[in-house]
Amino acid sequence: MQPLTHADQQRQPDKLLLITDRTSPSNRYGPYVGEILRSEGLLTYQMEDLASVNEKLLAESCVAILTRCTITPKERDLLSNYVTEGGQLILIAPQFIWQTAIGLLPLPSAILDGYVKLAIREPFSRGLPAESFQFHGISQKWTLNGATALASLYSGPAGATACAAIALHQLGKGRVITFTYDVGECVAGIRQGNPRLASSKLDDTNFSIRAGDLFGAGWLDPTKEHIPQADIHQAMLARAIEFLSPIPLPRLWYLPGMARSILLLTGDGEVAPPEDFQAEIDSVERFGGHVTIYLKEDCKISPEQEAAWRERGHDFGLHPWAGPDATIQLQRQEWARMENWFRARYGHPSRTIRSHWLQWCGYTDTARVLADIGVPMDTNYVSTPPSHGKYMVGSGRAMRFVTEAGEILPVWQQPTHLEDDVLLRVDSGYKYNPISINLSTDEGVSLCTELLTSSAEHYHTPIMMNLHPPFYPRFAGAWLDRTLEFAHAKGIPLWNAKQWMDFVAARDAVQLKITGYDWKQNKLSFCLPAADGSADLTLCVPDYHEGKRISQIKRAGTPVERTSMTIQDKNYAVIPITNGELSFEVFYEPEA
Ligand SMILES: [Zn+2]
Repeated sequence: MQPLTHADQQRQPDKLLLITDRTSPSNRYGPYVGEILRSEGLLTYQMEDLASVNEKLLAESCVAILTRCTITPKERDLLSNYVTEGGQLILIAPQFIWQTAIGLLPLPSAILDGYVKLAIREPFSRGLPAESFQFHGISQKWTLNGATALASLYSGPAGATACAAIALHQLGKGRVITFTYDVGECVAGIRQGNPRLASSKLDDTNFSIRAGDLFGAGWLDPTKEHIPQADIHQAMLARAIEFLSPIPLPRLWYLPGMARSILLLTGDGEVAPPEDFQAEIDSVERFGGHVTIYLKEDCKISPEQEAAWRERGHDFGLHPWAGPDATIQLQRQEWARMENWFRARYGHPSRTIRSHWLQWCGYTDTARVLADIGVPMDTNYVSTPPSHGKYMVGSGRAMRFVTEAGEILPVWQQPTHLEDDVLLRVDSGYKYNPISINLSTDEGVSLCTELLTSSAEHYHTPIMMNLHPPFYPRFAGAWLDRTLEFAHAKGIPLWNAKQWMDFVAARDAVQLKITGYDWKQNKLSFCLPAADGSADLTLCVPDYHEGKRISQIKRAGTPVERTSMTIQDKNYAVIPITNGELSFEVFYEPEA
């Protein structure tokens, strides 16, 4: 390592270094780990190719993350020397050559698509699920050889092994946290389904292939769908970074303002008359909410009517179809044509979309069609069987699609959890939709209120609803009214999909730069070079860090009032983002 200068000793290293390797086939989900960090609000990472990593770059890093790749002994030595001298390293799915450095011994076997369980006594696990949950991808089996297990590897929901899934090891003056599975591949797999099921249909209904078919054949364990499993894997990576970082790292809050959850309201309009739309809109407006309704080409909604509803804050998008025998070719051709029709008829683009029959082709082929026609958000991942209206994709958050080759597409996947005709039966006992799980209104309302409660109290993930206007006056009206009443009473915002898309885009555009951590004054400085105050974004700064607590926060030299928020058992000081160039200093004081 290079000797530190006097100036360096005052200043803590502050880079979050994300190391990827575009020459390594096993690294295809490496850049996607960057998407995970952004989603977790950890914006200050710098992505570097393995070939350009050197001692200087490492010396400037508060935490280095090596994504899954094949490295040489020389590269391993460079990274392990960095740790020995006091560096902090996260390894994702490491090779055998790491064994002595990470306190783990590899066994000659692996687990494919298994489970992990957090070590509940470790502070690392606080606020996260105590039961086992799924991972996708492959994990080498590693036994402990000096490291501490933060999570264990399970072969099944109750299939404990003696192997670690996440392990912490002290190496010299530094520490290593190893994730034995590929977090990027795992999150993509939980969210987007099994790529090997692409274009397979798993039921005998007359409908087309849906995104939900990617989750059949055991991919989703229905006993775990109450846990947003992908979001928890992300949270564990974020927690590992916060745990290792010698400096407190500011993060962006997931949701608008200080909201703990959000209910996103949508409805597929079909060919319902305007009165049915109006009945649903009236219900939403009674609770101060807004809804997005998707329109078919043969819908009965005039441009004047649509404009009047938009004037009141509602939103409309396209409900495209490619016929009963959809193929990707038909979809590409028809959706492009319908997008032109929509834009010409209503005078604005469709910012989000849901297809009639939830048609989905290939693994990410339909997402690529959306990229081609310029629609930035998809809502087709509706929780359908094998799911029961919970977290089929293990998430409520919007993330960009990633292809099997690791290409990140400019389209957000926003899951839909609750759909009327998938959950409810008509009062006579008749299933409107053959895939309906046949709940009564009471059971349907309980499902919604439980999901919203667990989101508000634990997971802080949006919940999206699809209520078809034609079903509002028939069998789903009471279900919607009671769910809205519950959410409203809990203070959960009721947004339409476009409001949410605008928020997601604004949050994604935030730039944040740490300008230094002064070791002597315990002072963290950071700036936002061009903040957008219109999007109701919130910054969270860890209130407690290595025995010190925040004593004061200054914006441009002036003390600011702060509120605090507890997120999964950890306290943060909360600062709203306002317009312009913002610079902050956060002062910490040793606890008395
Ligand atoms: Zn439809």
